[in-house]
Amino acid sequence: MSIIEAVVGPKTRIRNKLVPGTIEHAHAIPYYRELWADRPQATAVSTVAELAALPVVGKYEPAGGMSVVGHPDRTPSVLMHSSGTTGHPFTRYRSAEEIQELAALLSDLNARARERTNEARPIVHLSTISKRHHGNSIGALAVERSVTLGLLSERDLVKALGLLRRPQLFPDLVDPLIQLSGTPDDLVVLAHAVQAAGLLERLRPRTVTALADYLTDGHRDFLAGCFPDARIVHRYSLSEVVGGATRCERCGLFHFDVHVVPQVVSLDGEQSLTSGVGRLVLTELFPFSQYQPFIRYDTGDLVEVFESPCEPGEVSVMLVGRRAHVPLVEHAGARLPAFRPIALRGALESLPELQRGPMHAAIAPYDVLPGSAPRARAEFHPATPEASARLELTAVTAFAPHLFPRQAEELRERVRGVVLQSSPELRELAEAGACELHVQLTADSRAADPFTVRGA
Ligand SMILES: [Zn+2]
Repeated sequence: MSIIEAVVGPKTRIRNKLVPGTIEHAHAIPYYRELWADRPQATAVSTVAELAALPVVGKYEPAGGMSVVGHPDRTPSVLMHSSGTTGHPFTRYRSAEEIQELAALLSDLNARARERTNEARPIVHLSTISKRHHGNSIGALAVERSVTLGLLSERDLVKALGLLRRPQLFPDLVDPLIQLSGTPDDLVVLAHAVQAAGLLERLRPRTVTALADYLTDGHRDFLAGCFPDARIVHRYSLSEVVGGATRCERCGLFHFDVHVVPQVVSLDGEQSLTSGVGRLVLTELFPFSQYQPFIRYDTGDLVEVFESPCEPGEVSVMLVGRRAHVPLVEHAGARLPAFRPIALRGALESLPELQRGPMHAAIAPYDVLPGSAPRARAEFHPATPEASARLELTAVTAFAPHLFPRQAEELRERVRGVVLQSSPELRELAEAGACELHVQLTADSRAADPFTVRGA
């Protein structure tokens, strides 16, 4: 028996109370009734652990995917549309009831945090992401005032700075508590512009929350330097799922929100994992998702699962990357990720000799800010009868490698080293001769796009 099964943490105890209602509500939806028809134990599921008896569902299967989910007694009131990071568009509906429930929960958490911190000032939440667009930033509803700063073009940025220059954002608030949220790139571009405009002292946010994409060390260090009084928060979230996780400053892992159930299943099946790399599966709990609740929803993200000392008895994870970006290799009776995109991105970012892509294509000339993605491409070639599998990494250098052959050779070895260091599975495969790593350096920026790990 694993530790996670043996100890039930406080979050899981709360979730256990919400699971029976969640299943009963979902059972009224024809999609789930049909899906669970051959699982007699489905309606008896009453704990987080028992959810494992239910099938994992994804975006694209069955035909129509999760768009066929809809509760007959609820009316969709908000539509959220995502282009999808892997090219499959996705539409998500929410009913007024569930939005109100979530806002009430967040508002309650907010009130309790205020009591603990003895902070009475009103909060103004500035976000570059529309609060309705992203599942988790519905949190903006829980604060008193919110402002959306569009950052899609240079013009938007100029408008945002104009707004921040005003003596007061709201006529009745002289000294509000500022929170800032957005994608990591948006936050870095905005912080840079705010700094250049001499507005850092005026903005002084209490928290800076990165969401919708991965916050790298480069992003984080830059934001922490611009906003020394702010807590930099890194959220894991998906636009289609209510609830996500926050990266812990102590253990470095992501701890999940209480209103969503995280589970990790094997790469090639639905077996529950308590260690190692697997697929992250989320269940949204009633009443926080009502029209189109996701039960055992495959997020498309690979994670390594841990039990953190911060949260005994709960699932905590390290993000590995999008499943669609990770080739799998059969080795010694197991399937292993050929590499870990997020750790690889971090490893490449640590090498200043590599060329960076533009940070915000629509807003020139932000191509040299910390956190700009290195130009690199990882291409996997499966094993053939003649040759073993190989990973070909093409990295674009900021100098011409053929003019500096000795430096280039030394850099190539360093790239190799950090790449192997970033992915324990690749190291194991390379040592066993099951996957070779080839590193190619070039100064031709057309050879590779900026290395992205999630996308908005
Ligand atoms: Zn922790």
